Amino acid sequence: MSLARRLLDVIDLDVLPLTERGVSAGNKVFGAAILRKDDLSLVIAGTNDETSNPLWHGEVHTLKQFYELPQHPPTAELLFVSTHEPCTMCMSAITWAGFDNFYYFFSHEDSRDAFAIPHDLLILKEVFGLEPGGYRRTNAFWTAYSIPELVSAEEEPLRTELLARRQLIEDRYAVLSVQYQESKDGNEIPLS
Ligand SMILES: [Zn+2]
Repeated sequence: MSLARRLLDVIDLDVLPLTERGVSAGNKVFGAAILRKDDLSLVIAGTNDETSNPLWHGEVHTLKQFYELPQHPPTAELLFVSTHEPCTMCMSAITWAGFDNFYYFFSHEDSRDAFAIPHDLLILKEVFGLEPGGYRRTNAFWTAYSIPELVSAEEEPLRTELLARRQLIEDRYAVLSVQYQESKDGNEIPLS
């Protein structure tokens, strides 16, 4: 099974429906999922719920729900999927939870430029003094992987198929981003 195809499937079929509901309720577009490494089956998917709690980013909210499951596999056996490159809080949460990886679809720069959400990069710069891309993507705890890079590394004809799939996912997020930006004036999220 192609890991890139499976990750696009999970974002498209498992995360996006939750995010569409979340954005309708005034939340941001960020979502996450946790998969088993061995068969890439879904353990849980989740989405941002900052209207309930500004710490419920897609990743942290998904981790909260993961630990509320009656039984959850050890994180060493799992992949962490983030629709957007995690912010520093979420990166730390993924670290503290014991994951040795995360996979993301949109980059920090995409969050700033395409989604008008600059806070990830602002916090990196203001709190940690880091320029974009300045954190250690491979370190003693985990390795960060870009899903678009996995897609680009596939052989043809799969690469062309997955590039089209990637575009369809980006188009769905573009609609959600407009919806969020139009709704955010009325919300109480500190970094909206
Ligand atoms: Zn976050």
